[in-house]
Amino acid sequence: MKTPNFDSRMNQPELARIRAEIREFLANDPSIAKPRADSWSHFDAAFSGRLGRAGYIGMTWPKRYGGGERSSLERYVVIEELLAAGAPAAAHWIADRQTGPQLLRFGTEAQRQQVLPAIARGECFCSIGMSEPDSGSDLASVRTRATRTGDGWVINGRKIWTSYAHQSHYVLMLCRTSDNPAARQQGLSQILVPLDVAGLTIRPIINMAGAHDFNELLFEDVQVPADALLGSEGKGWDQVISELAFERSGPERFLSSFVLLEAFADLARQQPSAESATLIGSMISRLVPLRGMSMSIAARLGQGESPNFEAALVKEMGSLFEQDIGDRLLGEIVPAADPTSDDKFRRLLAEAVLHAPSFSIRGGTREILRGIIARDLGLR
Ligand SMILES: Cc1cc2nc3c(=O)[nH]c(=O)nc-3n(C[C@H](O)[C@H](O)[C@H](O)COP(=O)(O)OP(=O)(O)OC[C@H]3O[C@@H](n4cnc5c(N)ncnc54)[C@H](O)[C@@H]3O)c2cc1C
Repeated sequence: MKTPNFDSRMNQPELARIRAEIREFLANDPSIAKPRADSWSHFDAAFSGRLGRAGYIGMTWPKRYGGGERSSLERYVVIEELLAAGAPAAAHWIADRQTGPQLLRFGTEAQRQQVLPAIARGECFCSIGMSEPDSGSDLASVRTRATRTGDGWVINGRKIWTSYAHQSHYVLMLCRTSDNPAARQQGLSQILVPLDVAGLTIRPIINMAGAHDFNELLFEDVQVPADALLGSEGKGWDQVISELAFERSGPERFLSSFVLLEAFADLARQQPSAESATLIGSMISRLVPLRGMSMSIAARLGQGESPNFEAALVKEMGSLFEQDIGDRLLGEIVPAADPTSDDKFRRLLAEAVLHAPSFSIRGGTREILRGIIARDLGLR
C-alpha cells in the first residue's frame, strides 16, 4: 500500500519519475530492512549520507549551494516516500526542512556557502534551539541572552528538548539580544552556533521510549563571531515564525505512522474482515484531505510565502490523525504491542504508541495551535 496518487497535481510525469527513482533507491538501501514508525525520529548518519549523495537533500536549493533546483512538489514526493518506507531520516531532517531554508532566506552569502553544500551532501546536521526550561509555548519569553562584544557575541543560558544536538553540527538558536518589556517579540535574534564550541555543555534527556533524542544545552560564556548572526538583529521573532511554517505543514505531520497502517493492511489482506476494511477506509478518508492541504502549503512555501495559519491547521489535524491510528489499532483489533517483538506489526505498533504523545507537543502543542487557528478565524 504505497502512498497512492490521490491528487491530480501528483500526476505530472516528472513526479511519477522521481517517485519511481526514490522507491528504487529505498528498496536497495540496507536501512529499509527494518522500517520504523515515526521514522523521522530515527537518526542514522550513514543513511542520510547515502541520501545526500544521491541528490535527495536540499533538493529545491540552487545548484551553487549543492542543491538540485527541483520543484517543491518533487521534494514533497521524496519526503512522502521516506516516511512511507519508514526510513531513518532524523539526521538530516531539521537541516533539510528548516535550517537550510532559513539560511537561504536570511543568511549571508558566506553562511550559505559554508553550510548549505555540506547539508545537501548529508554530512552536516542541525538542531533547533528554541525551547527553554521556562519557555516552550510562550517562545517570546526566551531568556538565553546573546550579548554583543567588540568582535562577536557571548551567549549565556539554557535550551531544552534540543533534539539530536549530541549528534549534530549546528544549533540555530533563538536568543534575546535586547530588552523591551512592552514588546517582548522585539529584541530576539537567531544565531547559528557550532555544537562543538567551547563553553557549551550538552546533557542527555531520555524520552519515554528509552531513547536519547533530546538534550539540555547549557551555554556558559559561549563566544561566537559577529557573522554567526542569521538575518537581522532584533528580527528573530519574525524569522522564527516563518521557520515554524516549514516545521508544521509537511507530510511528517500525518505520515509518521503510515508504515503501521500499511503493516495493518498487510495483515488485513491475509484475514479480511468488514471491521478492518472500515478502519482502513476511515483512516484513508482522513489522510486524503490532509495531504491535499499539506501539498498546497508546500507550493506556497516554495513561492516564499508564510502560510502560518494553514500550517497550524495541518499540524493539529495531522497529529490527531496519527495518534488515532495507534489508539484504534491498539484498542480495538489487534494483538499486544511489543517493542522487542520480531513480528513487524507488533513492533511498529509499540513504536507508534510510545511516540504518539509527543506528536501533539513537538512543533507546538495542541492548545497553542488551536489558539492560532481560532485567532485567524476571528474567534478570539
Ligand atoms: C519529540 C519532541 C521533540 C522536540 N524537539 C525540540 C527541539 O529540537 N528544539 C526545541 O527548541 N524544542 C523541541 N521540543 C520542545 C517543544 O517545542 C515544546 O515542548 C513545546 O513547544 C511545549 O513547550 P513546553 O514543553 O515548555 O510546555 P509548556 O509551554 O509549559 O506547556 C505545558 C502545557 O500548557 C499548555 N499551554 C501553554 N500555554 C498555553 C496557553 N497560552 N493556552 C492554553 N494552553 C497553554 C500547553 O499546551 C501544554 O499542554 C520538542 C518536543 C518534543 C515532544
